[in-house]
Amino acid sequence: MEFDLIHRYFKTPFGRLARANANTVLVGIGDDCATLQLLPGHHLYTSTDTLVEGVHFFSDDSPHATGWKALACNLSDLAASGASPLGFTLNLSLPEINESWLADFSAGLLDVATRFNCPLVGGDTTSSGPNPSKTLSITVFGQAPITHRGFNRAHAKIGEEVWLSGTPGLARLGLLLEYQRRDRLAECCQGTELHQVQVLLDAMPAHLRQSAVIQLGTPLPRLELGVRLHGLASACLDLSDGLSGDLAHISKASDVSAVLVQSSLESMWRERWPEICQRADAAELLKILVTQTLKGGDDFELCWTAHPNHHDAIQSFGGGLHCVGFIEPGSGIWLQSPSADRTRVSARSYNHFAETQN
Ligand code: ADP
Ligand code: MG
Repeated sequence: MEFDLIHRYFKTPFGRLARANANTVLVGIGDDCATLQLLPGHHLYTSTDTLVEGVHFFSDDSPHATGWKALACNLSDLAASGASPLGFTLNLSLPEINESWLADFSAGLLDVATRFNCPLVGGDTTSSGPNPSKTLSITVFGQAPITHRGFNRAHAKIGEEVWLSGTPGLARLGLLLEYQRRDRLAECCQGTELHQVQVLLDAMPAHLRQSAVIQLGTPLPRLELGVRLHGLASACLDLSDGLSGDLAHISKASDVSAVLVQSSLESMWRERWPEICQRADAAELLKILVTQTLKGGDDFELCWTAHPNHHDAIQSFGGGLHCVGFIEPGSGIWLQSPSADRTRVSARSYNHFAETQN
């Protein structure tokens, strides 16, 4: 793309943020390479993600929300590793130059970048040729002290507790509302589940609808939490594909089983939707919410394991953190009912190369 367009939509809007970070961004946009300065005694962390139009975002999604989400989901990977952002690069592959799309998209990116102090340091802009879809790829760079052991997925140990931030499943409700609005709900769920989801969506109060839409469209990476968990969490990841699928990564890598307690997941939802207790169908609705939490995706909340000795320290961080299970010998993910029965939860996560969820 022509350099004046890169200037207009990327270098100029992000200029102030780059200047504010001149001590870390030694060379930014405009040269062959960016040069970043790490703090002494720190490791470099990096992660990359690609969003394809029609697969990860709708063509008619607001470009501002698309920009927000593209950077937020990458920063969430840094959060899950306990790293702090240094900067990011942006690769765009576009079928055409749509200046109003670019302006709103870069404004969405800039909002997240400013909020989490993550300057744009370079990228690449190409034509997608005959392919009519946009492809956005972001690489984030972060740092953490070398004394940070890392939140390796293989670090979960028997006897540890399983914690969640926020209300995982909320973004899935946002997605279901979005599909319902488009009259395409049957593409997300079938049969009995479709009926249950319709009942749930009809019952949702306005405040919950609103927070579900916000969670889906403008998730907040838990960067501060990731750093606070240094020395407390063993294994940690961010929830992008759904609790059961993502937690299965920890259980497999650590060769343990994870037991999720139904009543704890229900309390998490009662906190988010206090009026539910006044409804005659509260018990059924809570069950449906737990199912949606297990399979939901796109929340970008953190899920981690920690020794019970750290329970009070983690709880003292404030509201919105939930201890929902524990690690045991064995394999797989289990849901424990109030009568202590356990059912194995299938590890569902989105597979882009399969026709259906697996
Ligand atoms: P090169 O030929 O060296 O790859 P480009 O013409 O592709 O250079 O890019 C010129 C400068 O603009 C580089 O510093 C590059 O990092 C930056 N740049 C290009 N596209 C983007 C983008 N989408 N976002 C941020 N910086 C970009
Ligand atoms: Mg280039």
